[in-house]
Amino acid sequence: MRYNDFHGEKISVLGFGLMRLPVLNNDQSQIDMEKVEEMILYACEHGINYYDTAYPYHNGFSEKALGEILEKNNLRDKVNIATKLFTLEIGKPGFDPEKMLATQLERLRTDHIDFYLIHGLHGDQWDRLKNEYNIVEFLNEKRAKGIIRYMGFSFHDDYDRFVKIIDDYNWDFAQIQYNYLDHEIQAGDKGLAYAKSKGIPLNIMEPLKGGNLIFPDYAQIEEIKAKHGITESSAELGLRYVFDKENLHVVLSGMSALPQMVENVEIADRASVGCLTKQEEECIEDIRKFLATVETIPCTACRYCVAGCPQEIAIPRAFSCYNTAVKFGNKEAQLRTYNRDCTNLADCVECGQCMDACPQHLEVPELLKKVRAYFEG
Ligand code: SF4
Ligand code: SF4
Repeated sequence: MRYNDFHGEKISVLGFGLMRLPVLNNDQSQIDMEKVEEMILYACEHGINYYDTAYPYHNGFSEKALGEILEKNNLRDKVNIATKLFTLEIGKPGFDPEKMLATQLERLRTDHIDFYLIHGLHGDQWDRLKNEYNIVEFLNEKRAKGIIRYMGFSFHDDYDRFVKIIDDYNWDFAQIQYNYLDHEIQAGDKGLAYAKSKGIPLNIMEPLKGGNLIFPDYAQIEEIKAKHGITESSAELGLRYVFDKENLHVVLSGMSALPQMVENVEIADRASVGCLTKQEEECIEDIRKFLATVETIPCTACRYCVAGCPQEIAIPRAFSCYNTAVKFGNKEAQLRTYNRDCTNLADCVECGQCMDACPQHLEVPELLKKVRAYFEG
């Protein structure tokens, strides 16, 4: 395993994201502890020392599983735990950072968090945390007591807000969504450069866009790769794109099976800053161009259609499943989400409310039929 120096500590370049763990009975709360333990033991043996979880992952059971497995195997002192303050609770009765952190320490069976992040900052959340919850005093106090060793935030908004937040507190690190398709959205390349100029290392999340850049059996992608003489897997190509970048702290991969972890460890070992070849760069550019030509439903997920639907159909969710499956060639994975979240498309009574509400003027009922035909055949 390769390591980055972080304030004199060696942190593995590959981090284990514990948000897509194997589960039993298709229930996100029932983590398959045997498999996860096997993965954590493998990860530790192969030098991964950064484990990233969060308050809501697997309905709280991700933190619990990590805490239990580390304690059972006497590994707590050999690894860094990263977890996050859950910002979607802001403004809800009972939201209390103090209580949340106490719960997390209990779940994780530890007296300190190595890397603590404010989770997925966007919109006015940071301002609200400062103004309504005195978050700066809270964080400073926890850092002074050693309960939080390093403080960061994860981020889902635009570049300007990224700059504003990064300039507004004494952060040790930050975490952004970044991959070869998303390099110009959210913080993006500009965010990478800005964080570097401020001396703040970045973690990268979604390096394979939630698995979408794996492209299982995708003939057109394989043709593009062959044209450029690329023989590595699409997963390796995507990971090499991010490992190539400077100023990275950790590349997080949400691994859900041991073989995936084995492959990622090997990929991390083969990659390095500046590793991307000219052929790989050109191949990625051609993949980008090809994906831009794949026709999808131009739904922006604005959700204006949702509230007025008398049948409570998850319209944007159905379109998103379809678009992702068609664009990235992973129908099987999207079918699972479709079967979970889009069970009542057939209930559409064609009232037309959604079409009146849709700023994109989409023919929603007809498109819903198309999505049904695609997934339900
Ligand atoms: S047309 Fe169908 S999807 Fe649209 S609002 Fe009416 S019932 Fe809902
Ligand atoms: S209103 Fe139109 S664009 Fe917005 S979520 Fe609904 S279908 Fe998509």
